[in-house]
Amino acid sequence: MKRQSSFFKKIISSFAITILSLMLLIYMFSSFAIKKHYKNTLTQNLININKSLAYEIQDYFSNNDYNSLDKFVKDIGCQINTRITIISAKGLVLADSEKDPKLMENHRYRPEIEKAIKGENGMAMRYSKTLKTEMLYVTMPLSINNEIFCVIRTSLFMNDVKKLINDLSQKIMIISFLVFLFSIVMSIILSKYISKPVEKLISAAKQVSAGDFTTRVFLDRNDDINILAESFNEMTEEIQNLFQKIKSEKNSLNCIISSIDEALLVIDIHGKVILTNNGIKNVTDKEMQGRSFWEIIRDENFEKFITKIKEEKKNFSEEWKWQKKYFLCSFGYVYLKNEIVIVFHDITKKKEMEMIKKDFVSNVSHELRTPLTAIKGFVETLKEEEKEQDKLHYFQIIEKHTNRLINIVKDLLILSNLEETGKVQKESINLYKLVKDQEKVFEKRINEKSLKFNIQIDDDLSEFFGDRFRLEQMFINLIDNAIKYTDKGEINVQIRNITDKIEIIVRDTGIGIGEEHFNRLFERFYVVDKSRSRKIGGTGLGLSIVKHIVLLHDGNINVESKTGKGTEFIINLPNI
Ligand code: ADP
Repeated sequence: MKRQSSFFKKIISSFAITILSLMLLIYMFSSFAIKKHYKNTLTQNLININKSLAYEIQDYFSNNDYNSLDKFVKDIGCQINTRITIISAKGLVLADSEKDPKLMENHRYRPEIEKAIKGENGMAMRYSKTLKTEMLYVTMPLSINNEIFCVIRTSLFMNDVKKLINDLSQKIMIISFLVFLFSIVMSIILSKYISKPVEKLISAAKQVSAGDFTTRVFLDRNDDINILAESFNEMTEEIQNLFQKIKSEKNSLNCIISSIDEALLVIDIHGKVILTNNGIKNVTDKEMQGRSFWEIIRDENFEKFITKIKEEKKNFSEEWKWQKKYFLCSFGYVYLKNEIVIVFHDITKKKEMEMIKKDFVSNVSHELRTPLTAIKGFVETLKEEEKEQDKLHYFQIIEKHTNRLINIVKDLLILSNLEETGKVQKESINLYKLVKDQEKVFEKRINEKSLKFNIQIDDDLSEFFGDRFRLEQMFINLIDNAIKYTDKGEINVQIRNITDKIEIIVRDTGIGIGEEHFNRLFERFYVVDKSRSRKIGGTGLGLSIVKHIVLLHDGNINVESKTGKGTEFIINLPNI
């Protein structure tokens, strides 16, 4: 309401100021014009009187009868209600219609007289010391043979003129005032006519901005403002429809989100929770909406993931353990809104199954070790005592398979041990010595195949921090494989120092591996050629043990190989 009246006030006040200034201007201009016109008319009248007097008074001069002249002037002056003064060329007053000329002072230096003496008509408006009032004087020179002998001066009392002009000004003022009043009334009506629909539109717009999209404006008129109102109504209807659409889309999206079993958490860049779904109860039973995530999920790892997504702005998934539960968390970054979306997949059951499986494998391996060792012992004894070639052959087969089983059990136990401990015990290691020791272990097999074994280690790599026992296992498996799958040529172990990491390359010139196997090579029990692997006593577990050890050291492993040319395992380990 306040705003409406201010709009009306603004229109009316600008109208009033404009009209008032216009009226003042008209008043001033008309007063000035009337005054000027009146003065010009009166001056012209006095000039005409002067001209008609000129003939009459010439006779008095030829007789030098100034007394009769004075009388004549007084008569005429009384008749036409105009002061007439006759002044000689020297300024002496010869006759005057109002006063006794003998008592009057010399008029030589009156401005209108000075002008007339120079031969022109003179005019002046000034205060008369003789009559003590403001007068309008008009003079005209009279000459004989080009010599000025007297000046006729007619004058009017300005008081009368002023009174007349004041009367006129007053009338103009009253008329102006009336026009002003009329204009104000008209402008009030006009302002109301303009402001009312605008005020209606303003209040409607306010209602719309407050969320009431049913608001419409109806004006009982047929002009541009009505078009504006109609456009406003159309626009509001459009907004209403859009709003409805967005609302229903939001509702269905909310339904979808809440029907998802997976927990969903959306946070802004400052960590404030924007959205959750029902599934979040699986993560926490505390209310998260409107709070910061760290008030509820106090976990160092989770905060690390949030920092990572904030910095890298790239989607990723990570396993996360939280209060006896395991989640696979997918972190997504919404660029448009600078928000982070986290979906929690509960993998607790899967993890538990994995643990059961691992335990089972570990238990079975433990249980099998003793009977297998016993079988191996008895087979060896029986083999020594057996003289029959056929039976000896069978014992050899039993021994070979028992050895393979023992190897599998041994590798399985190593793997389950790696998974169980889950961490490494780092110490300073001399890598050259460690590899050299392995050369001695495999010396016999290397010589049997007439292979060359080279070790190449950077001089500046004095020490490396790692788990000695595990790294030994890693080298054993890699060198064992290299010997197993290389019939001629050489095996190279190269270790390079690269700023804060080391690069280990185990290269051979053996049978190589087809590129199609690279992806699955590090899986448990994966072998490229089953019969070959079985023949040479492979378990299919060696490389998965290697990969485990590399990962425990926060490193990575890659393979490069060409069938028939050789294989290269490249391992990068951080040296910190
Ligand atoms: P295995 O005990 O059978 O060697 P691994 O896990 O150590 O099991 O290796 C998996 C498979 O990878 C092997 O069966 C073999 O086919 C292939 N492989 C591993 N190392 C080499 C190598 N140096 N040269 C060629 N093939 C290799």
